[in-house]
Amino acid sequence: MAGTKRNPDWTRDEHLVALDYYLDNRDDYFSPTGAGVLELAAKVSQVAKALGLTGSDTFRNPSGVSMKLLNFRSHDPQHDTKGLPQGNKLEKIVWAEYADDPAALKKVVASILDVTQAAAADDAPVLPEDELSEAREGQLLTRMHRYRERNAAIVKRKKASYLKQHGHLCCEACGFDFQATYGDRGEGFIECHHTKPVSELAAGETTKLADLVLLCANCHRMVHASRPWWTVEELRSILRTIRSEKAPPTD
Ligand SMILES: [Zn+2]
Ligand SMILES: [Zn+2]
Repeated sequence: MAGTKRNPDWTRDEHLVALDYYLDNRDDYFSPTGAGVLELAAKVSQVAKALGLTGSDTFRNPSGVSMKLLNFRSHDPQHDTKGLPQGNKLEKIVWAEYADDPAALKKVVASILDVTQAAAADDAPVLPEDELSEAREGQLLTRMHRYRERNAAIVKRKKASYLKQHGHLCCEACGFDFQATYGDRGEGFIECHHTKPVSELAAGETTKLADLVLLCANCHRMVHASRPWWTVEELRSILRTIRSEKAPPTD
């Protein structure tokens, strides 16, 4: 059955890495034997590997990577691209999100490559996978976000500091207090959400208490339920709006 195995589709992470290269080299021919494309193919393969993807001999090879770059060209208004194939939907989406903000993309890609390298190291952190909606920054940084906010030591410090200041633990968005609702079983129960996008953190930068907010499980789930993730300010303002719509008229 050799050769019949279908390679997995390109992920958002891989698209971001390729788009960053495209924007730096917009007028190139993207020859599959050129040094730039070869290097990019190696990077994209590492990212795919960090995500646990594997494929056949043609998996993320230089020809495929070159084709991906030419697909981006079909979205580029700076180029007359009649006749170029339109690629998949994600190309269009990441183009719309980042083509006009290459500096932001560059930060994101640097972080993706940092996490990729860390994933290849022996003492790689085990990045949790769950049903979070993928961040704009891709799956690797989504997992890194989760990893950071589940760091037991910092979570413990955050809860202790909040408790000292407020006398009880509650959701900083909706006010839900697990202990008040569930009694003893809810004591000390609350989740931590990291408010900074992973791509804003320098490599090796540690989490500060000020970067964390306490959220109940429902609010935290809603922040991450679709893309783009809500900021805590957005979450609070949505709660306020919906509560005021539901409130009975006071006059
Ligand atoms: Zn809440
Ligand atoms: Zn979170």
